[in-house]
Amino acid sequence: MQPSGILHLGNLLGALENWKRLQDQYECYFCVADWHALSTNYADTRQIQENIREMLINWLAVGLDPQKCTLFIQSKVSEHAVLHLLFSMIVPIPWLERNPTYKEQQQELSNRDLSTYGFLGYPVLQAADILIYKAHYVPVGVDQLPHIELTREIARRFNNLYKEVFPIPEGLLTEVPKLPGTDGRKMSKSYQNAIYLSDPEPVIREKIRTMVTDPARKRRQDPGNPDVCPVFDYHKIYSSQAVIDQVNRECRTAEIGCIDCKKLMADALIPRMIPIWDKRQELLDHPRRVEEVVSAGTEKAQKKARESLEEIKEAMKI
Ligand code: SF4
Repeated sequence: MQPSGILHLGNLLGALENWKRLQDQYECYFCVADWHALSTNYADTRQIQENIREMLINWLAVGLDPQKCTLFIQSKVSEHAVLHLLFSMIVPIPWLERNPTYKEQQQELSNRDLSTYGFLGYPVLQAADILIYKAHYVPVGVDQLPHIELTREIARRFNNLYKEVFPIPEGLLTEVPKLPGTDGRKMSKSYQNAIYLSDPEPVIREKIRTMVTDPARKRRQDPGNPDVCPVFDYHKIYSSQAVIDQVNRECRTAEIGCIDCKKLMADALIPRMIPIWDKRQELLDHPRRVEEVVSAGTEKAQKKARESLEEIKEAMKI
């Protein structure tokens, strides 16, 4: 995960909740991809250290457990860069140019110059991140599947050219419940519609109080449709079945007003946040703990990466 800013509920539900389940099933490596953050944010690196620290605190606060998984920072394991270089010798440029996110992101981030070598080669670095651990599975969203396909192509090409070194990894897709931002659009830092893990209770309550609802429900006495209301999406995730049923019924008959409905939702969400806030505070008070976790994780990742790199170099006769 790129350390591109503070984490929000969308990140928690879209990735971290899934990672928490995976750490109980597989040997997992979770990497703070700070070099990847440079591929689009190379011109302004002022925030990067703070973002790395904040992300690690959040990972630990939501329940990633260093006893069960390995947490590390990409740039501390320089073997990733060496493998990236070796792969760059065998990856044809058209493979990278046809990557759909390459053009999409260039258009989306048109205020930045992304005609760089590093940005084009971003999926090659990603392949190195995955293959250096000989990963079998990579938890991704649908939009990342083309990158995994490229990683598979690179692994196959390497195995064919030199020696069967890499397993062919698979993307691990998970059904993620829909959690829109407070304005109903996708939750994103850039839309300013996100609820952050670090938001204190009054801020969260205020964000919920001003959330958009069913646009057709203009007055208190108008019946609403929870199926088109973002508040109801939150209820479906955080509220009890009894409350979900109540809202689903009473919204349609205008028995419940949006203010009360939102309050019910906030009352369901806040208790889920409290353990995260407590753990965050504990880690903020003891920053050495985060450093120790990262340093142990980096050591473990490095050992594995070094072993792989030896085998890779031997296969390439380098
Ligand atoms: S009552 Fe609740 S579900 Fe219905 S429109 Fe208002 S906020 Fe949305």
